[in-house]
Amino acid sequence: MKRKRRIAILGSTGSIGTQTLDVIRQHPDLFEVELISARRSADLLVRQALEFDAAHVVICDEARYQEVADALQPRGTKVWAGVDSLCDLVGMESVDIVVGAMVGFSGLRPTLAALRAGKAVALANKETLVAAGAIVTRTAREHGGVILPVDSEHSAIFQCLLAAGDNPVEKVHLTASGGPFRTWERLRIAGATAAQALRHPNWDMGAKVTIDSATMMNKGFEVIEAKWLFDLEPDQIQVVVHPESVIHSMVEFTDGAVIAQLGCPDMREPIGFALSFPQRVTVGNKKLDFAALGSLTFEAPDTERFPCLALAYEAIRRGGNAPCALNAANEVAVAAYLKDLISFYDIAKIGERALAGVNFVADPSLEDIFETNRETAAIADGYIH
Ligand code: MG
Repeated sequence: MKRKRRIAILGSTGSIGTQTLDVIRQHPDLFEVELISARRSADLLVRQALEFDAAHVVICDEARYQEVADALQPRGTKVWAGVDSLCDLVGMESVDIVVGAMVGFSGLRPTLAALRAGKAVALANKETLVAAGAIVTRTAREHGGVILPVDSEHSAIFQCLLAAGDNPVEKVHLTASGGPFRTWERLRIAGATAAQALRHPNWDMGAKVTIDSATMMNKGFEVIEAKWLFDLEPDQIQVVVHPESVIHSMVEFTDGAVIAQLGCPDMREPIGFALSFPQRVTVGNKKLDFAALGSLTFEAPDTERFPCLALAYEAIRRGGNAPCALNAANEVAVAAYLKDLISFYDIAKIGERALAGVNFVADPSLEDIFETNRETAAIADGYIH
């Protein structure tokens, strides 16, 4: 019998983390949990560690360490605190696949540590590639690490490319649901609250990415993510709004042929494929019923009402540390929007200022990336308060 794949989940208590554990729960014969980590959700982390008998548990917020240690150490679980521990542990011999499900820039260091150790990283944390795509992909190449996309669009492109042979890609078509404000007038969107933005029509996701979906910054970041994952030019990546979210993305070839990947919108599908690649496993999702579906619709994205999409294209065309600056500003802006401190279009304004004000570095080192992140976050924060 083949050995089980041993999984480390960075960010096990978030939306992707819990859905990853749900896939693992369905296949105890294929997967086992070696490590789980959370930023500060100590209760859920402890429950997960008990259910899946995780060997290592990391709580990033050191203030919550004692509570987790008290609950788990008596049973022999190794409990650690802080992101540095996480960076050390992801390289362990006993880890086969690292699921990168942390939110935002915070996932960059552990992801790099995993790739440096030559691990397969199932990457859901797109901000890592947005902020430092050149460094992350170079690290993977140099150390034999592999990035398996978990973002549904990129998993779709990856699956389409398996059918492409050696043929060059002409274009990829990234589908976008359009989010909860797709049909709203600009004036109404301007007054939209975070509670309204959190009502995503199709996908069940965490708060940060759901707001990013409402602004379409998420799609912009996915353009950047696609550039790095599949070595494409920005002009080869086209966004098309597809409200049903049934086509998860498409690849077009020189002869005009287009290969698409379809499925019901459920993150467990791309997660399962990344964990079990190249095999496929059941994940407990609904299956498509084409007759019931009737039709699929498409429209062009509107960058007047959703300026963040255009900002992301501008950032990736400028290159260097510009996408890192946009990401940093966006993280601060989304956190403020979630607390009702700023309005919807302030998110784009803050991103625009970040792009205009960043000290541009054409070929940033990792230190430059951390510096840009810090600097831009501070400037964005100053704009809000
Ligand atoms: Mg996506």
